[in-house]
Amino acid sequence: MKAFQNWLLNNNVEKLAAVNHYEVFRFRCAIGIGVIYKDRLGNHSCTGAAVSAAMHFIGQGRSNVRWEGNAPKPRSSKSERKRLALVRTLLERDGDRCFYCGEALPTDDKAKTLEHLLSRGHGGDDNINNLVLTDQPCNSLAANLSIAEKVALRDRLRRRHWALREAPFRFSDLNDDTLYIV
Ligand SMILES: [Zn+2]
Repeated sequence: MKAFQNWLLNNNVEKLAAVNHYEVFRFRCAIGIGVIYKDRLGNHSCTGAAVSAAMHFIGQGRSNVRWEGNAPKPRSSKSERKRLALVRTLLERDGDRCFYCGEALPTDDKAKTLEHLLSRGHGGDDNINNLVLTDQPCNSLAANLSIAEKVALRDRLRRRHWALREAPFRFSDLNDDTLYIV
């Protein structure tokens, strides 16, 4: 049960105070409130958002589908304006291709994601020199990789990009990349 709670916290839920002593864990997430209960016999049960969370938790490893409760918090309009200004600056600097895979970025600026080369988890900041544009799938792939790992990921995705465009098709390129499907 502790592992499930840690999984929930890693999926950005907000922990709330328990309402009664049968509640082991109460939280708020993108799809509402979820509660884990423990009855007098020690049996656990879930309600609300905790039900779908539990199904994802049990299925993790077999499915790479993101739990719908883990949705990014809506951005305030001020930070979104600042973000869009950065997106446009980076478009001028780097063009409209994903830094990792080289595919064309989505046309809607709102769907382009800012990627920190040195991730915030590794002490990276929001300076323009630390930012590139990516699409959402590559952004998720890169997540908290180190810079060296990101460069290696970029090389592999770019190799596949060109391998798929320039026949002959080589399975060896794909096999290399399957390591990165998470
Ligand atoms: Zn990409």
